[in-house]
Amino acid sequence: MTETLAITNQKGGVGKTTTCVNLAASLARLGRSVLVVDMDPQGNATTGSGEDKHADVRTTCDVLLGDAPLDDVVQRVEAGFDLLPANGDLTVAEVRLMEEEGREYRLQQALADARGRWDYVLVDCPPSLNLLTVNGLVAADGVVIPMQCEYYALEGLTALMRTIESIQRGPNPRLRIAGLLRTMFDARNRLAGDVSEQLTGYFGDRVYNTVIPRNIRLAEAPSFGQPALLYDASSRGAVAYLALAGELLRR
Ligand code: ADP
Ligand code: MG
Repeated sequence: MTETLAITNQKGGVGKTTTCVNLAASLARLGRSVLVVDMDPQGNATTGSGEDKHADVRTTCDVLLGDAPLDDVVQRVEAGFDLLPANGDLTVAEVRLMEEEGREYRLQQALADARGRWDYVLVDCPPSLNLLTVNGLVAADGVVIPMQCEYYALEGLTALMRTIESIQRGPNPRLRIAGLLRTMFDARNRLAGDVSEQLTGYFGDRVYNTVIPRNIRLAEAPSFGQPALLYDASSRGAVAYLALAGELLRR
């Protein structure tokens, strides 16, 4: 059975892409087959996995528009997972899909043919609740919500929860919150501790036990086109994402 997880938060810079690439590498290291779907026109998951987003290759855009079968687009990356790469063309896909019937089901349909082929499909969503994110949520079994424990973090969650509820009432009743992930965590910061406590108070065991620390290696690794596990396997960041993968497998 494939478990499809949409990594979503409409706030930018909270660690969605970092989580997607590093979790994929960690699950692959633990022997699971993983497909990463880059659904962000910025293509950060693509470059962070070591692929050139300017290369003349088929991308997620072609898949969403029905211009290419999945097999023509999927690439195997160095870290041992598969990737549907993306670039700025995705913005075109979003605009063109706006007019079309069943526009929110495109990713779900594309992945349906491949059901069972991967243990995990991780969808890296863009920083907005747009049609691309909706496609991710409609295709997903669960939502992983990375968040920084900052003052405004909880406020932003309300809009995301409303979107998730409307997807549950509409196109995807099986969608659930897989977990909230505390990212870029600094244990010395009092406010982070307070927000973290509020978060666990409200969401209980839906908050992952694993906490991702702020770690320079995680920030450096993408410029080498590598997950932290390849760039510096003993870094706190790499170890934390391995722990998260372990927690996911146990749940
Ligand atoms: P998003 O995809 O939500 O926009 P990113 O994953 O791209 O967020 O992260 C935003 C920035 O923060 C990037 O420069 C990334 O390298 C850096 N970053 C992410 N997680 C961490 C972390 N745990 N420690 C240090 N830097 C991080
Ligand atoms: Mg991103």
